[in-house]
Amino acid sequence: MCGIVGYTGPRQAYPVILKGLKRLEYRGYDSSGVALMNGGKLKVFKKKGKVAELEELLIGKDVEANIGIGHTRWATHGEPSDRNAHPHSSASGRLAIIHNGIIENYAQIKKELLNKGYTFTSDTDTEVLLNFIEDIQKNNNNGSLEEALRIALKRVSGAYCILLVDQNDPHTIIAARKGSPLVIGIGKGEHFLASDASPIIEYTKEVVYVNDYELAIVKPDELILKNIGNETITPYITKLDMELAAIEKGGYDHFMIKEIFEQPSTIYDCLRGRLDAAAGTITMSGVEENIEQLKNASRIMIIACGTSWHAGLVAEYIIEELCRIPVEVEYASEFRYRNPIVNKGDVIIAISQSGETADTLVALEKAKENGAFIFGIVNAVGSSIARISHAGAYTHAGPEIGVASTKAFTGQLTVLSMMALKIAKEKGSISNERYLGLLNELQDIPEKVESILKNAEDIRKIAEHYKDASDFLFLGRGYNFPVALEGALKLKEISYIHAEGYPAAEMKHGPIALVDETLPVVFIATKDLYHEKIVSNMQEIKARKGKIISIITEGDDVTPGLSDHYFEIPPADELIAPILTVIPLQLLSYYVGTAKGIDVDKPRNLAKSVTVE
Ligand code: GLU
Repeated sequence: MCGIVGYTGPRQAYPVILKGLKRLEYRGYDSSGVALMNGGKLKVFKKKGKVAELEELLIGKDVEANIGIGHTRWATHGEPSDRNAHPHSSASGRLAIIHNGIIENYAQIKKELLNKGYTFTSDTDTEVLLNFIEDIQKNNNNGSLEEALRIALKRVSGAYCILLVDQNDPHTIIAARKGSPLVIGIGKGEHFLASDASPIIEYTKEVVYVNDYELAIVKPDELILKNIGNETITPYITKLDMELAAIEKGGYDHFMIKEIFEQPSTIYDCLRGRLDAAAGTITMSGVEENIEQLKNASRIMIIACGTSWHAGLVAEYIIEELCRIPVEVEYASEFRYRNPIVNKGDVIIAISQSGETADTLVALEKAKENGAFIFGIVNAVGSSIARISHAGAYTHAGPEIGVASTKAFTGQLTVLSMMALKIAKEKGSISNERYLGLLNELQDIPEKVESILKNAEDIRKIAEHYKDASDFLFLGRGYNFPVALEGALKLKEISYIHAEGYPAAEMKHGPIALVDETLPVVFIATKDLYHEKIVSNMQEIKARKGKIISIITEGDDVTPGLSDHYFEIPPADELIAPILTVIPLQLLSYYVGTAKGIDVDKPRNLAKSVTVE
C-alpha cells in the first residue's frame, strides 16, 4: 500500500509533493514524510498521523527545494510512529529512500548488516534495504548508485516501488519497481513520480507506467528507463484521460458519499457504448475477440479479494445460471499459495478496483504460467492487472478514492452481467426473450439507482437509530447472499461495528444464537424466487425479538409488518437486483460511520489499494 510522490524540475518541490500526498492518502495514512534536497543538502521531515499533521509540522520550516520525495505510509514492519515513517536516511546520511511494499528477506540482510556494525533507527524493512544499497556501493569502490541498486535488488525478495535521492547527485531521483505501482509524468523540463496518476494529472497528461523489474533514472529534462539487466528501454508514453474534477470531493463531505451518489452516472458510463437494448446487442471487444475460448470454457475461475470477491460470488450465480459453465470463486491470497489445478485454456476472471492488488496479481502470474486465459475486470486504466491480462473490460467508474469500495463494486457487477449475457447469447444458453428482457433491465438500472438515492435520508434515520449497536447480522438468499456479505463488510470497515453476513437459511446453523432484542438484523428481502423463504427467516428472527431492518421491493405488503424499519427499492429482475440492493447498505454503513464520528474515507488500519500481500 502506501503512496509515493517525487518531483524534480524548476518548481518548488514541497507544494507539489504535499498536494500529491493528500491525493494518495487513500493508500495509507498512518504517517507521512518528505525528503527535500536543496543545493545537495538533504532535509528529511516525517510525522506519525495523517498528511495534515506533516503539513502542520512544516509550517515555518525551510522547505526550499526543487527536488524531493514524499510518502504516506501503511505500516507493515514496525508500528506507525515518527521514527518508522518514511523517508529513511542511510547510515552516512547521504541517501534517502521511500518505499511501497515489503522486503521479505529483510531479516537475513539486516543480520548481515548488523554483523558489519550497522545500526538502525527504525524497525522497517525499508531502512534495511537502503543501508544494503549503500553498503554495496561502498564495497564497489563507491561505484554508481544505480549499479549498487541493481545488485541489491537482485538479492531482495518481495515487492517494492522505491524512490531514492542522493546528496551527491542533486537533481536525480532513481526509481525501481517490482509488484508496487509507479507512474512517471512527463512535463516540460520536469518530471513527476507517483503511485497513481492523481498527483500528476494537474501538471501533465503524458505518463509512463513503469513495469516490474525496471529502473528509472529521472532528471528534470531526462528520463532513462532500464531493466534490471542494465539494458535501456524506450519509455512508452500514454495519454491520461482522467479529469482533475474526478479526483476531488465536489461539495460532498466525504469521497465515499460522493462516490455512492455518482453511481447512476458511473453505471451509465459502464453501459455506454456497450449495451444497446433497442438493438439487442452488447459490444465488449475483450469478450468478442475471445468468444470461442470463453463460451467453450469447461470452467471459469474468478479470483479476487474483499469487495471484488463479493462481486465474483454474484457473478458465479449469474454465469452458472445464464451460461451453464461451472464457476469457482476464490480469494487470491488462498489461490496463490495452495496448489490449485489450473490447466491450459482454463478461463480466469480477475476482479480488482485498483488493478494493483498484490495477491491477485501474483495469483494471475501463476495461472498465466500454467497456460490459463486471463480476463481482467479492473477500474484503474493502465494498472498492472489490466496489463498482464490477455483481455478484459474496464468498469469505467472513475477514480475511487474512498477506502470503502462502492461505485467500483456496482461497476464490476454491471460488467460481469453484460459479460455473462454476451457469452450466454453466443453460446445459445439463453432464450432470446430472457436475453432482451435482461438487456432492458440493465438499461434501466441507472434510473433506479437514482430513485433509491433520492430517499437516502430515510436510511440516515435508520442509521441514527442503530448506530450504537455492537453487532449486526446481514441476511440474504440467492443473488442477494453476496450482497449480505458486502453489507456486513462495509459496516465493519467504516463503523467498526462487528457484522456478519450469512445466507438467510444458514443462519439457523449458528448465528441465530446471537439473536436477542439488541441485535439488528438486516434482511435483503426483495421480491424474487426466494421471497417466501426469506419471509419465514424474518419470522424466525422476530420470534426471538431481533430488530429487523429490511430492504424490500416497492409494493410488498407482507414484509413491512415484520420489520422494525424497512426501505423500498424499485422492482428488478433478481439476477441484477444486487446492483440495487447494495446501495441502501452502502448508505447505511456511511451514515452509521459518520454518526459515530469516524473518518469514513480513511478508516483505521485499512488502505485502499492493497499492494502488499
Ligand atoms: N514495508 C514498509 C514499512 O512498513 C513500507 C510499507 C508501505 O508500503 O507503506 O514501512
